[in-house]
Amino acid sequence: MTDTEMFCDKNSIPYQKNLSTKSISTFKIGGVIPLAVFPLNADHAALLIRFFKTNNIKYKTAGNCSNILFSDEKKDYVLIKTDNMNSLVVDKDRIITGAGNLLSKISSTALKSHLSGMENLYGIPGSVGGAVIMNAGAYGSEMSQIVEETEYVDNKGDIRIVSGEAHCFGYRYSCFSDREIVTKTIIKLNSGNYQDIREKMTLVIAKRKASQPLEMPSAGSVFMRPEGYFAGKLIEDCGLKGFSVGDAMVSTKHAGFIVNKGKATSNDVKHLINIIQSQVYDKFGVKLETEIRIF
Ligand SMILES: Cc1cc2nc3c(=O)[nH]c(=O)nc-3n(C[C@H](O)[C@H](O)[C@H](O)COP(=O)(O)OP(=O)(O)OC[C@H]3O[C@@H](n4cnc5c(N)ncnc54)[C@H](O)[C@@H]3O)c2cc1C
Repeated sequence: MTDTEMFCDKNSIPYQKNLSTKSISTFKIGGVIPLAVFPLNADHAALLIRFFKTNNIKYKTAGNCSNILFSDEKKDYVLIKTDNMNSLVVDKDRIITGAGNLLSKISSTALKSHLSGMENLYGIPGSVGGAVIMNAGAYGSEMSQIVEETEYVDNKGDIRIVSGEAHCFGYRYSCFSDREIVTKTIIKLNSGNYQDIREKMTLVIAKRKASQPLEMPSAGSVFMRPEGYFAGKLIEDCGLKGFSVGDAMVSTKHAGFIVNKGKATSNDVKHLINIIQSQVYDKFGVKLETEIRIF
């Protein structure tokens, strides 16, 4: 038994050994994580960070793994997975949610509570924590417009609160470093009409189904939107729709997505990313930066 497992046992922190990243990621790619820990709350997360720091143990944090490409090799870090941080309270026009809850669950909660403001984000397959970190957005809405306050554990293991502009939200960007763990967020919405909210949500899902390859494993848009362009259009204009390396393929439905045809490896995806980046640069002089995180 490793020191981390003993520490988790002592502090009643759930953990799992030999977790396959194929089973936890939307891309269905990657190797095995020797140990994943599932803190229940900020106190657990704080204990873990202090323990990892003291013992020089590498760690990474993940929510629903919908924006992560896991490498094929055996991992040398402990994965902190936020699934169990799933508290949920509705207080008038605010939803106070643990970082591990899925955005879809929060959108449904908002609908049931007749709260408007999350409709366009419905269908993003991430957790609240991942959506805050990435400032996830769609169809003109983004997390920055509705996040009021966030509780997180800093890299020393102290529990802190950040409010409003101090989140420093930008395009797919927030103030948090990769050593910090988002544990809880307050989302502020507006009261709305149930039918209107439901109709908007239905429309948004229909738009996604029509334009995105939701029937195949992926991690969403691989690249950030370069200023003045759309990554998908540039890739399509290079004639790369349907182009494959191994089982990793540029989606024929949306060229901004790379899909896994079945047995794609992370090296297939990385190789394909390099080809896309160099062809787009050669043809248009535009540097595509990856949005997905490589673990
Ligand atoms: C089909 C599909 C469609 C998508 N559509 C969209 C879209 O429309 N708009 C959009 O913005 N994104 C989209 N995405 C990408 C993805 O869903 C979002 O980026 C989402 O916010 C990631 O959340 P997650 O919980 O899956 O994060 P993960 O993928 O688990 O992690 C992403 C990053 O956040 C960090 N992280 C996650 N949780 C925490 C936490 N609690 N504390 C600290 N760090 C954390 C991780 O370390 C990592 O760096 C799509 C993905 C797919 C597969």
